[in-house]
Amino acid sequence: MVIGAGVLGASVAARLAGAGLRVTLLDQDEPGHGTSRWSFAWVNSNDKGPRPYHDLNHAGIRAWAELAPGLDGAAWYRPAGHVELATDGAELAARVERLASWGYPARLIDAAEAAGLEPALLPPDKQATAAWFPEEAYLLTEPLIERLVAYLTSQGGTVLTGEQGRVTGLDTGPGDTPRVRTAAGAVIEADEVICCAGRWTPGLAALAGAAGTVPLVPWDTPGSPAPALVVRVGPVGPEGPVRLIHTPQIALRPHSGGLLHLEAPDTPVDLHTPETELRRLASELLNRARHTVRGLDQARVVAAKVCVRPLPADEQSIVGRLPGAEWVYVAVTHSGVTLAAHLSRLIAADLAPGAPGALSAQLSAQLAAYRPDRFARTAVRNTGPATGR
Ligand SMILES: Cc1cc2nc3c(=O)[nH]c(=O)nc-3n(C[C@H](O)[C@H](O)[C@H](O)COP(=O)(O)OP(=O)(O)OC[C@H]3O[C@@H](n4cnc5c(N)ncnc54)[C@H](O)[C@@H]3O)c2cc1C
Repeated sequence: MVIGAGVLGASVAARLAGAGLRVTLLDQDEPGHGTSRWSFAWVNSNDKGPRPYHDLNHAGIRAWAELAPGLDGAAWYRPAGHVELATDGAELAARVERLASWGYPARLIDAAEAAGLEPALLPPDKQATAAWFPEEAYLLTEPLIERLVAYLTSQGGTVLTGEQGRVTGLDTGPGDTPRVRTAAGAVIEADEVICCAGRWTPGLAALAGAAGTVPLVPWDTPGSPAPALVVRVGPVGPEGPVRLIHTPQIALRPHSGGLLHLEAPDTPVDLHTPETELRRLASELLNRARHTVRGLDQARVVAAKVCVRPLPADEQSIVGRLPGAEWVYVAVTHSGVTLAAHLSRLIAADLAPGAPGALSAQLSAQLAAYRPDRFARTAVRNTGPATGR
């Protein structure tokens, strides 16, 4: 039983069904309508540390490339590469050097090469430094999740949504069998309960009697760094961008329906920001995008939404059995779009070791640093604002 049909839960459910298990996927909403729907969905390991976490994310990039050909990747996989323009050339140069030394495709480029790679770019500031990250991609999460769910059902899996899929209770019955209670009044027994409920995961841990074991940055308090403003604008003219672009002022990428997806690091919003302020910030982002790329003459703001990152308190993924409620396995992470294809493979090896023993153990070992019990062992470092990276 998998709770949560975002990019992570749908990936886990599809992997487990592919390994021959009978899987039920539950979601209180339609699949893919949580955080995954509004994510920047940049598949990258551009600025992630420490080294093992960088490697985990880099494996995530490769896992999507491997998965795409067999899952109608043309509908959702966009290996477009990423151009970054920076005014702090020293930071960018140092990052590129570090990434390249780790075997991650990254190099500094000049303005002419940046314009050749992305003809939509308006001439940058003379001081700007540019870099090119050819392996990075973005995903269209809605068509992706549709295909993961379709694969799951093609393998005999079941999907329950709405009241039937909303989990309201987690406990164990006779013989310690895990049980899931839904808002529709059903009590469903399961061999395993795998909770991929994104930012809602701490609440589900509490239902299982393990409150406090999944520490995420609180997301509903005023000023929380977890929420971010996501803006979609269009229509975009044919001369518009085809790649991911970052500048100090704006992050953007193409989106389906002839739109561009925009974000910026300096738009402090939370779940309490008034609608008028969101509209003002959205117009400001469209304005910045117009100063960055061509193709936005006719564009207007189509959507402006505050979207919440599931941010583990130490910024690293949380994957494994809950201390005190070991019958619940959780998987919650920031960068979940980058990580889902690879993490789901590791989780399948952890829970359904179909691979030869040594390979399975090797895959599971990659999760050792991310187990939930680390929070009980070490003091939690509550870090400052995180970025979409
Ligand atoms: C603005 C923004 C930008 C981002 N940019 C990037 C990026 O560029 N690259 C990247 O890799 N990551 C990025 N992320 C992070 C990434 O989007 C998330 O890590 C990822 O989407 C999490 O997926 P998920 O499946 O864990 O959660 P979700 O997509 O939130 O899915 C969880 C599901 O659980 C369901 N659920 C919750 N409670 C219950 C319940 N009681 N019963 C049943 N179902 C329940 C919800 O309805 C939901 O569908 C970004 C996030 C944000 C907010």
